[in-house]
Amino acid sequence: MNKRMRVVVMNAALGPLDYRAPSDWPAGTPVPPGSIVVAPLGPREVLGVVWDAEHMPAASVPEAKLRPLREVISVPPLQPALRRLIEWTADYYLASPAQVARMAIPSIGALRGPGQITEYRLSGELPDRMTPKRLMALEALQGEQATIRELSALCDVSEAVLRTLAQQNVLEPVVVATDRPYPAPEPDHDVPQLGPEQAAVAAELRAAVAARQFAPLLLDGVTGSGKTEVYFEAIAEALRQGENGRQTLVLLPEIALTQNFLARFEMRFGVAPVAWHSALKQSERRRAWRAIALGDAKVIVGARSALFLPYADLAAIIVDEAHETSFKQEDGVRYNARDVAVMRGRFEHIPVVLASATPALESRYMAAQGIYRTLALPARHGGAQLPAVHVLNLLEHPPEKQHWIAPPLVAALEQRLEAGEQSLLFLNRRGFAPLTLCRTCGHRIKCPNCSAWMVEHRLSARLACHHCGHHMDLPEACPECGDKDALVACGPGVERIADEVARRFATARTALVTSDTMWSPSHAAAFVENMQAGLIDIIIGTQLVTKGFHFPQLTLVGVIDADIGLEGGDLRAAERSFQQIAQVSGRAGRGEKPGEVWLQTRFPTDPVIAALADGDREAFYDAETESRRRIGAPPFGRMAAIIISSEDVKEAQEAANRIGGTAPQIDDLWVMGPAPAPLSMLRGRHRYRLLVQAKRSLELQRILREWLSPLPFPRGVRVSVDVDPYSFT
Ligand code: ADP
Ligand code: ZN
Repeated sequence: MNKRMRVVVMNAALGPLDYRAPSDWPAGTPVPPGSIVVAPLGPREVLGVVWDAEHMPAASVPEAKLRPLREVISVPPLQPALRRLIEWTADYYLASPAQVARMAIPSIGALRGPGQITEYRLSGELPDRMTPKRLMALEALQGEQATIRELSALCDVSEAVLRTLAQQNVLEPVVVATDRPYPAPEPDHDVPQLGPEQAAVAAELRAAVAARQFAPLLLDGVTGSGKTEVYFEAIAEALRQGENGRQTLVLLPEIALTQNFLARFEMRFGVAPVAWHSALKQSERRRAWRAIALGDAKVIVGARSALFLPYADLAAIIVDEAHETSFKQEDGVRYNARDVAVMRGRFEHIPVVLASATPALESRYMAAQGIYRTLALPARHGGAQLPAVHVLNLLEHPPEKQHWIAPPLVAALEQRLEAGEQSLLFLNRRGFAPLTLCRTCGHRIKCPNCSAWMVEHRLSARLACHHCGHHMDLPEACPECGDKDALVACGPGVERIADEVARRFATARTALVTSDTMWSPSHAAAFVENMQAGLIDIIIGTQLVTKGFHFPQLTLVGVIDADIGLEGGDLRAAERSFQQIAQVSGRAGRGEKPGEVWLQTRFPTDPVIAALADGDREAFYDAETESRRRIGAPPFGRMAAIIISSEDVKEAQEAANRIGGTAPQIDDLWVMGPAPAPLSMLRGRHRYRLLVQAKRSLELQRILREWLSPLPFPRGVRVSVDVDPYSFT
């Protein structure tokens, strides 16, 4: 009889369950913890992970009722360090172990399945007759190759139509071997000549990798100082270690940056690294996951989801642009990949490098406490100077009516155009206008599902909600009073700035860079190529252009609205605003020519603007740290948000009141709310919030669990807890 074992099944609603080994498993040999298994669950089968019973309590099931597992999948078991990380993450963020473990394993198809996948691509033949759908597919699938399902998602044409096209040989099958090996990066392919400061930091990083010990390192270097170049040396060291080289994980905040990174990496190491992100095809996902688990993929670059993969032999983690708020996941398990990366480093006994020109206040605080070690690169590589910053007071220099670029900035742009240099205008707002208003009755067009305005997108000729994705055609008449031609666009988005640029500088070649125009790696690559080839004079972009890019001919950055980020007034508004403007400013003057930055503002004396103008980062951090200390906010205290939502407003309100009414009365714990959330309706659900703040000495997670888990809520009510919240909407 095979013994009992504990299994975390991939079902967030269920706790761990006990099973027996599969009936064909050799008697007397335990199934190793970490093994990925297929378990029967009622009439179905689910994936699960065998767990260390002593780490994971479960309801006891009598021996006679234990069911045998169906299968132990032949992939390497999740290692102890990863299992501890999953436990820690579940505990810290009040998630179930299953929810976290799911991030470590792919779908059953990618795990088991054949080592071959049939993908399809256009053969060049034409269908027997053309239909609109077929035409759409033919146009959209140019140059693509993927499974029928993936192609269907790509071109928005049903799988049935595509299958017919395959029968007619318009789509031809290609068999892809999913388990073919990745070429190995060569640590000595193209070693750069580092400057003295860079060399010193690189030596520290190499030593940290060689030491095989936990070391949290804050790589704090100004924009253009060569942080990437330097952490590449940590990767090179990892590749030189062990028999065939050890692994490194590089986390990037956006997929849009990956392309740029891949190209740079390839120049340094001879081959591209292995990419991991949500847009991978099934064949790529399977190939990457297995190579990671077997240790054959040496360098993995990915979005935050790459953090939980089962690396066989991880030597270092690098979090690039570590201050970025996109490392915080805002649904499901609400974890912060920067913080979890540090924990993974602890469990794996390896260094974790947080690289940034504008570190998070929390990271700076840890460094000041001596918990993180700071490695500083205070100067730009090659003697390039940081750009000069001009504050442009909009009250003194107002733009003309229905224009947003003030005269001094217009003049500066003209100069750059004449000099043949490149400029960048930054406004962190997608679309043409954030609000559409009726001139006759004052009606504002709102999303039917959210308490938010519909944003006009002129490129796609429609109104869209940025919260739920709802969209509609731009109405000709006001939906409220029916007046024709009375709707006006209020305020600017990037599309409107691009419009103004086109009207002012008729000959300028422009590029609009937002997630609406750069939604795929190939679009991003084309943009970078055009910039480098000097085919673009003025970029107009959202936060997508603030980081990572290196364009030596870009010498002017104009911030259209430096006050925009300060409006929300949440905990990190000032910090985020400072970081974003400092980052976008850092795109200017990276080559031989000096750069300049113009900040358009209505509040020239605001501390954030003043610090940016004076280039006085320390003053900003000191003041901001002090104000957090005063109110006991993170990093000086703990914080969690509780968000209650329901389609029924009364139900949501009652649930929120019940939570508020049962709040624990504990010293050093403060509960604010419940109150309607600023975004009081989202995707048709009414939302309430509570904010919990506590001294660091309290075990906030335990208190929250004991407070919330006994409370009964109706089915339609969703209660989610956001530990260390970043979003206050
Ligand atoms: P950061 O990541 O700090 O913004 P990067 O690593 O992107 O800086 O470096 C900025 C630019 O300077 C890049 O184009 C990089 O290739 C170049 N660079 C940095 N250090 C060196 C070096 N030692 N030798 C040659 N080029 C370098
Ligand atoms: Zn909406």
